[in-house]
Amino acid sequence: MKELIILGSTGSIGRQTLDVVRKHQDAFKIIGLSAHQNVDLLAEQINEFKPKAVVVSDRKYVQKLRNLLKKDVDILDGKDALTKLVLFDADLVLNALVGSAGLESTIAVIKTGKTLALANKESMVIGGEIINRLLLKNGGVIIPVDSEHSAICQCLLGEKTQEINKVILTASGGPFRGKRSSELRRVTVEEALAHPKWNMGKKISIDSATLMNKGLEIIEAHYLFNLSYDDIEVVIHPQSVIHSMVEFVDGSIKAHMGPTDMRIPIQYALSYPERLPSPIPMLNLLTVDKLTFEEPDSVNFPCLRCAVEAGKKGKTYPAVLNAANEEAVAAFLNGEIAFLTIPEVVDKVLSKHKPVEPVELSVLKEAESWARNQASEIIKTARY
Ligand code: MG
Repeated sequence: MKELIILGSTGSIGRQTLDVVRKHQDAFKIIGLSAHQNVDLLAEQINEFKPKAVVVSDRKYVQKLRNLLKKDVDILDGKDALTKLVLFDADLVLNALVGSAGLESTIAVIKTGKTLALANKESMVIGGEIINRLLLKNGGVIIPVDSEHSAICQCLLGEKTQEINKVILTASGGPFRGKRSSELRRVTVEEALAHPKWNMGKKISIDSATLMNKGLEIIEAHYLFNLSYDDIEVVIHPQSVIHSMVEFVDGSIKAHMGPTDMRIPIQYALSYPERLPSPIPMLNLLTVDKLTFEEPDSVNFPCLRCAVEAGKKGKTYPAVLNAANEEAVAAFLNGEIAFLTIPEVVDKVLSKHKPVEPVELSVLKEAESWARNQASEIIKTARY
């Protein structure tokens, strides 16, 4: 029986994780859950999974949560609550927080020596250098939950790093694949949220529409698998049947295929190194479309190029890229800026940045808050 702590249990990944746990009650037990504000759902989860402790990061909602509970549970709140939660006895922590808020928890989990199932790719993008240094010092294991990285991780089982020729990340292309910037000018929030293949949260759905998500995933892969940027390629594969590939020096390519459902990589991260029966129906190859591959369009979708450049420059650039993007995506979701203004904001903030070596977390935080201020200034003048 593996004991689990789920950070961000009311979000899209959190809910799907609990669905996996629900299907394997003899394999997993929930020790801790966390949510930001959605205490109605958190209360249902607590009543069903009976964790020892939970976190409500927004203090205002603690009393409301208490009123909704059938049985008492240890409720932690305030600034260090997540750090305290991950100290509870457990085998694995799944970090499904959204955005840069997840970095501190990622670091806290590694320090405990527990296995980290990482769905919060922003942690790796912002703090990849610090995280890898910490892993070298403390030891520890990160199992990626991101479907592409889970695929790569599985393709690399039993292989030697020096025999990798390159890693090929697949991308669906998002809802606007094939569109030109003239057609992207007036797209609405609803259109951008309507992802053709994956069922995901809002932030990542917008990132998929701009292709920033793939850019962030390149940086994530660089740090997770210690790959040079020149050895990571992106290919558009609209059917999303192949979740990523690894090409080896002898010309062999291993591809990871499966249903387009996040519960598969989530379950793999929870059960690793074992495999458990699928929580969903198997992929029927006879119902699959033709598999096609295209080059990504970095002219009409400049976020991809922007992210790779920031990744290659390193230092505080990836943190600035991510913070500026978070601000721009939030502004787009609020109806404040147009879709095409997202890459403009990110590009402008990056071009003003004076990079610093990320020796510690405080340096990254400073770079992020600088980037957020710059982005909000640009957003103010760019408003419709
Ligand atoms: Mg992904």
